[in-house]
Amino acid sequence: MLEKSKGLVLQSLEFMESSYICTILTERRGLIKVIAKGARRPKSPLRNLCNMFGTINIVYYFKRDRELQILKEGNLVRRRDGIASSYDKYLLCSEIVSFVLQFLPYEGGKEIFYLVESVLDFIETSFEINPLIFNVFVFKVLKKEGTFPELDKCVICGNKEAQFFSWSKGGVICKACLKNKLDAIKITQGVKKELLYLLEANWDDITRLKIGKITESILKSIPYLKGK
Ligand SMILES: [Zn+2]
Repeated sequence: MLEKSKGLVLQSLEFMESSYICTILTERRGLIKVIAKGARRPKSPLRNLCNMFGTINIVYYFKRDRELQILKEGNLVRRRDGIASSYDKYLLCSEIVSFVLQFLPYEGGKEIFYLVESVLDFIETSFEINPLIFNVFVFKVLKKEGTFPELDKCVICGNKEAQFFSWSKGGVICKACLKNKLDAIKITQGVKKELLYLLEANWDDITRLKIGKITESILKSIPYLKGK
């Protein structure tokens, strides 16, 4: 079946003598792998479609139960050369991309297409890079993928007065349920507000925000950071 989609190139590996195998996050189908046959030949029309971090419009042959789809044609929408021109930017984008590749199943992740595109755009063009951008990105992905921690009430007993946060329990817990939760961090209403704000805010606003110490330590201890 021939399909069309917008896509983001997350990985591009040389294959055989003249081809590439690219992992692409597509708007239509989520994560797929395509072979771009002959794309490394100088005159190949597919050559431009295989740049890491680029946005492309593609046409490909899709067959279910096949791991590798076949790239037919397409056009480049945005190259994002600015990422590779700075070591810090390249590192941060590579970190983001490897998280996405580890976290998402094959054909998963349609719902984070625009989130990934927006963070790549932001990093390419921004002057200052806050390393917490990666953590906030993962935090936003958890929300979109439905594995976001509970912030409203104690995850164990439902008590509304829950002032401790625990990643291992998946959200806030109350004093009575605290017991030996060693990873629990005491939080305030302000921290909850800040966490919720990070979910909604755009990258410019997040960069300008002075993130509080407690919020920062919660972001830094997200368990998914080291992969599945
Ligand atoms: Zn409780």
